[in-house]
Amino acid sequence: MTPVIALLMLSLSAGCTESNTNQATTPEQSPPAQETASTPSPQSGKTKVVTTFLPMYMFTKAVTGNAADVEILVPPGTEVHEYQSTPNNVKAIATANVLVKNGLGLEEFLDNTIKNAQNPKLSVINASTGIQPLNEISPVEKTGKKEQEHDHEHAEGNPHVWLDPVLAKQQVANIRDGLIAADPANKVSYEANAAAYIKQLDSLNSEFQQTLQKNPNCTFITFHDAFPYLAKRYNLKQVAVVEIPEDQLAPADVKNAVNAVKKYKVKALFSEPGVDNKLLSSLSKDLNLTLRSLDSLETGNTDPQHYFKAMRDNLQTLETACK
Ligand SMILES: [Zn+2]
Repeated sequence: MTPVIALLMLSLSAGCTESNTNQATTPEQSPPAQETASTPSPQSGKTKVVTTFLPMYMFTKAVTGNAADVEILVPPGTEVHEYQSTPNNVKAIATANVLVKNGLGLEEFLDNTIKNAQNPKLSVINASTGIQPLNEISPVEKTGKKEQEHDHEHAEGNPHVWLDPVLAKQQVANIRDGLIAADPANKVSYEANAAAYIKQLDSLNSEFQQTLQKNPNCTFITFHDAFPYLAKRYNLKQVAVVEIPEDQLAPADVKNAVNAVKKYKVKALFSEPGVDNKLLSSLSKDLNLTLRSLDSLETGNTDPQHYFKAMRDNLQTLETACK
């Protein structure tokens, strides 16, 4: 073990008092999505759609355009995995016609929130309907405690399907079909908008294929188990040493990262945008691996086109890292 890692682990086990928060984006940095996204407009006569978190908002907004009012429950910049719903979330669902969720166990807060909203007219669209979830979390063995803590998180398989452009197409199609069923008057708009967005997803998929086929089996380490679908699609290998992003890395996480680097031919360490984690940067120096940033899109700009920008940034990062 190199001295820096030993030192890090020592300081970690000594008590983690340093406040290196791992929040991807603070509310101040994120776009003012809430005002535009969560102001109900009952007078508009439009179908009111509530979505759970950023990718569902972007995909839904891409399909509706201005034909429906779309809101978001989990404000960008807030952690979706361990989200606690607010009274305003209950109100939003109580007055909505449609709710769009990612499903696959991601939105743990949702069942109770829907129950509390008591809206018998609500149609719920599960965007992951028909998608075969991956259950394999990480090829690295985990320590007992953490596994128990987060076991329930992925009870229905890994939820991060939106990060594979091909599965994103299926999510958009599911959202389109659910919206048409709930609001047939806008069928033509929903179909045209969805077709345009799916076409963009097709181009994105081709770009990923063409770029990443040059370096098959490129292996990278993440501290958030968000990229197994992307990795599978493009013949990369994700080694996730942490399932859910956390404020503090545990000593076991550091140890897993070190072990993974020994065990696999690792090309890169990936953090997330906005994360300034001193521990990760020291670790990357110590392991002699560049620390780069890969976006899980759980937070960010709410424009539907932001998906493509962020994913192209991810592609460029992967291309550079996998060379
Ligand atoms: Zn996640």
